Amino acid sequence: MNTPLKQDADADYLLIGGGLQNALILLALAARKPDASITLLEREDALGGNHIWSFQALDLPESAKLWASALFEYTWPGYQIHFDHSSRWVQGSYRSCSSEHLDRVVRGVADARANIRLRMGTPVVRCDANSATLKNGEVLRGRIVVDARGPEQCAQSRGGGFQKFVGLECRLRQPTLMTAPLLMDTRCPQKDGFRFYYVLPFTEDRVLIEDTYFSNDPGIDVEAISQGIQRDAHRLGLDIESVLRTEVGVLPMPSRSPFSAKPEGPIHAGYAGGWFNPGTGYSLAAAARLAEHLSRTPIDDTFGAAWKRLVRQMRIQSHFLAFLNLLMFGFFHGAKRQRLMERFYLVSDPVIHRFFAMQNTAADMWRIMYVGAPWTPKGWAKRAESPPGAGSGPR
Ligand SMILES: Cc1cc2nc3c(=O)[nH]c(=O)nc-3n(C[C@H](O)[C@H](O)[C@H](O)COP(=O)(O)OP(=O)(O)OC[C@H]3O[C@@H](n4cnc5c(N)ncnc54)[C@H](O)[C@@H]3O)c2cc1C
Repeated sequence: MNTPLKQDADADYLLIGGGLQNALILLALAARKPDASITLLEREDALGGNHIWSFQALDLPESAKLWASALFEYTWPGYQIHFDHSSRWVQGSYRSCSSEHLDRVVRGVADARANIRLRMGTPVVRCDANSATLKNGEVLRGRIVVDARGPEQCAQSRGGGFQKFVGLECRLRQPTLMTAPLLMDTRCPQKDGFRFYYVLPFTEDRVLIEDTYFSNDPGIDVEAISQGIQRDAHRLGLDIESVLRTEVGVLPMPSRSPFSAKPEGPIHAGYAGGWFNPGTGYSLAAAARLAEHLSRTPIDDTFGAAWKRLVRQMRIQSHFLAFLNLLMFGFFHGAKRQRLMERFYLVSDPVIHRFFAMQNTAADMWRIMYVGAPWTPKGWAKRAESPPGAGSGPR
């Protein structure tokens, strides 16, 4: 057992990096282990960077709502998808949370508890199972150390491709009629892999518009894409008055699983530890599962049977999803990739939700590989549902 005696430690849980992963862990621990001492070390002066995190119906288990519901900044009942030849509505809560909101929620919880410390502006240079060394030479000890310093730490390429995007949060001149997210609209000139627009309508006059590419190449021309969004927004029925914020992402979609969790500390968590969905590049669902585990398991049992079960499930899902990337980025180029995506979205709503949440069952894997795939006769596949109304989802 590598957890030191309680009296030796500065904190029960020493969390390195104040991004999405450790914010979720902190909230879960605060809710389920109110007596545990937690120290979070973040290099910057704010938590969470510059993101809008979105997540689907099953990404947060029902039990996680106890500690995560404060993060539901925006909630919609489902989302719309438009391909060139088909459209569909996917039913099930779709939610978003901004970095600023995450920062507010975590600080609110920490301020109310003497046993939770946020140390901002505190870069960590190295860590091991029970300690973190700060840039100023100070060494802090923790019974459990979680290292979640973000994507910069996972430089190693694991093949596959990238989900890359530029998002503009915009103020609109005219209110939009859109009442639900547009998850994917491929009715735009295709280039650089598979391309689509993504829109989140926060209010009737404030939206996030993203131009997204599933590409084999990580290069991204932020300026050109930003200008393109402003030029093309009217085709989505959006009249931009001003750009409030820009976000850029180049998320790896690896063809070899990036997930490797050991039964000992430090826990390499979040993006850097491969706790993300290779099929989407998104990490909230995996991060929430780790937060659930740490908050529900006695500290001395962190790497016990429940850990082994979680790691096994994550490994199976990660390998399957990475294998899909191997197929998509290796064999489906140009228009073929678009057809592949269109076929994927023929599967039913629950299969889609489980895909995003990394909870594919064996039957789902079969459906995705054979029913929703282009090498299966189209008649076998479930037809896409018609959208419930013209435009943007339910009224
Ligand atoms: C623009 C963008 C949008 C995304 N949208 C979504 C989405 O909608 N849904 C989704 O599920 N996923 C999304 N992702 C993917 C993924 O969820 C995010 O990258 C997520 O923030 C990863 O969480 P993390 O905690 O591993 O890393 P981060 O959130 O990046 O946090 C790492 C933290 O560690 C800090 N840090 C780094 N080095 C040190 C150090 N030496 N010492 C101390 N602190 C340090 C950083 O400052 C940062 O705050 C998005 C990614 C990007 C880039």
